[in-house]
Amino acid sequence: MASAQERREALKVVYREAMGCVRCPLSETRTTVVFGAGDADADLMFVGEAPGRDEDASGLPFVGRAGKLLESLLAGIGMERSDVFIANVLKCRPPQNRDPQPSEIAACSSFLERQLALIRPRVVCTLGNFATKLLRDDPTGISRIHGRAEERLVAGHPVRLYPIYHPAAGLRAPAVLEQLEADFARLPALLALPAANPAASAQEVPEPADESPPDAAPAAAEPPREQLDLF
Ligand code: URA
Repeated sequence: MASAQERREALKVVYREAMGCVRCPLSETRTTVVFGAGDADADLMFVGEAPGRDEDASGLPFVGRAGKLLESLLAGIGMERSDVFIANVLKCRPPQNRDPQPSEIAACSSFLERQLALIRPRVVCTLGNFATKLLRDDPTGISRIHGRAEERLVAGHPVRLYPIYHPAAGLRAPAVLEQLEADFARLPALLALPAANPAASAQEVPEPADESPPDAAPAAAEPPREQLDLF
């Protein structure tokens, strides 16, 4: 099995490839490719939809208003950005933030697949419909399945896939924000579970008996790990 350092080096190769990508027309309108950022050996990975204006300008994921909300939700469970890896389904901004097109998702998805295979998170938290539908390979919408973790093979690795609302939806509707906060609060308990079962396929993870206190977040108990210092 490749060491964390070997996987991190391999991730840099994927990063360099993505930076020069011209697989779809978004390469003509982007300012920069937004590969993703964070701990290349993270237990928890977030997958959003696509870069927006702020991300396109900075090259970093989730740095606009939705990103601030994501940071504050993370702080609520005793974690910060550097504890996790954050990526998107699309690495380039769709013009006017329109929805990703199926052809763009198809062109880009191998980058996400390779990120997932190299980072090997134990929990993959999909933010909103596009990431959830792609990684579950199923059209069921986020409002029906948010907050329900499933054991799945993702990029060939067993993970707990945990769909939640996109933070941008939480900014638009207080009821969604409430739900997002409630779903986020389950993340420490999911991270504390033993590794997902390799034989698992779409098994729902039972509800934990009780809530873990915020200071029980496993990331806080572990030594700091090397960050992916690509930017
Ligand atoms: N919304 C996303 O889905 N991703 C980002 O990086 C920013 C906003």
